[in-house]
Amino acid sequence: LRELRRIVSICQNGQDMTDKLQPAQPGFSIGIDLGGTNLRVAAYSNEFQQLDMLSLRTRLEAGPAAVLRDMADAARSLHAAQNGYGKFVGVGIGSPGPIELPEGKLRAPANLPGWDGLALRSELHKLLDMPIIVESDANAAAFAEWRLGAGKAYGVDSMAMFTLGTGVGGGVILQNKIWHGAMGMAAEPGHTVVYPGGPLCNCGSHGCLESYASATGVRRIAAEIGATAGGERLQGMLAKHGELHAHDVATLAREGDAASIKVFEEAGAALGLGIAQVVGSLNLSLYIIGGAMFDSLLASSQIYRMTQPENRGQFEVRMTNVFPAHLGPEAGLLGAALLPWSE
Ligand SMILES: [Zn+2]
Repeated sequence: LRELRRIVSICQNGQDMTDKLQPAQPGFSIGIDLGGTNLRVAAYSNEFQQLDMLSLRTRLEAGPAAVLRDMADAARSLHAAQNGYGKFVGVGIGSPGPIELPEGKLRAPANLPGWDGLALRSELHKLLDMPIIVESDANAAAFAEWRLGAGKAYGVDSMAMFTLGTGVGGGVILQNKIWHGAMGMAAEPGHTVVYPGGPLCNCGSHGCLESYASATGVRRIAAEIGATAGGERLQGMLAKHGELHAHDVATLAREGDAASIKVFEEAGAALGLGIAQVVGSLNLSLYIIGGAMFDSLLASSQIYRMTQPENRGQFEVRMTNVFPAHLGPEAGLLGAALLPWSE
């Protein structure tokens, strides 16, 4: 195709335009996926191939200053290792929210205890003299899914993504851009109320989506259902491990344990209500669900029943499409690395 364009351009302009048609000069960016457990820092090429990655433990017990130092050291080391690769465009960070943007000021993030009020961008900037862009981790994942995953595959300029993990994150792309809202805190579906009067969430509300369709939510529901008649296998799992993990409940559900299936149906029904709110507000055609918890929930037909997608197989641009994410667990890290290129 490149050669064809070159020939066409020569015919049109009467001169060789080859120089202008070469792919962009090689270059790279660094993405940081800051999680409550793991800190991943990676260099990506201008064609979004991962060049190098460092995976560290997030040393929460050592405090924010130590973790910021780890981030800066890792970014510097990757930057030095790519020396000669080409133009360096900057560092993108995907951080747990809630977070005010663009300064990246954290607001009591549940996954980063002790980080409340920390201005991520300026604090890291004191240690790292590089261009730095901060996003919420869910926005970064949504951005990657839109640019290189499901959004690219279906050719949409707008979409919403729900990320199911310890909590429920979200990101909305509207007309080719991340929708930030007034303070950068748009698209926080984890704290939309799906069941008024439901369990108390750590945000202070009752019945938030996060209290159902997250790993934490599944553990809570499993404890409840496990205590009722028919919940013997859940009880057994609890006795064996001392606590109920979402992935253990998922294993029981896959084995056909009715009580465990019920746990995921309840979580899936809540997710469906959460998605339906966005469908009703934004009338987008594409809703993407990703995150570590999603495989477990996928088994639940409740997601599809509650959102009532008109189309269950092929993408149709004039319909409501609810589909799994394409990129997997790398989406957040990749999205962070994409950010400096979008500036
Ligand atoms: Zn909440």
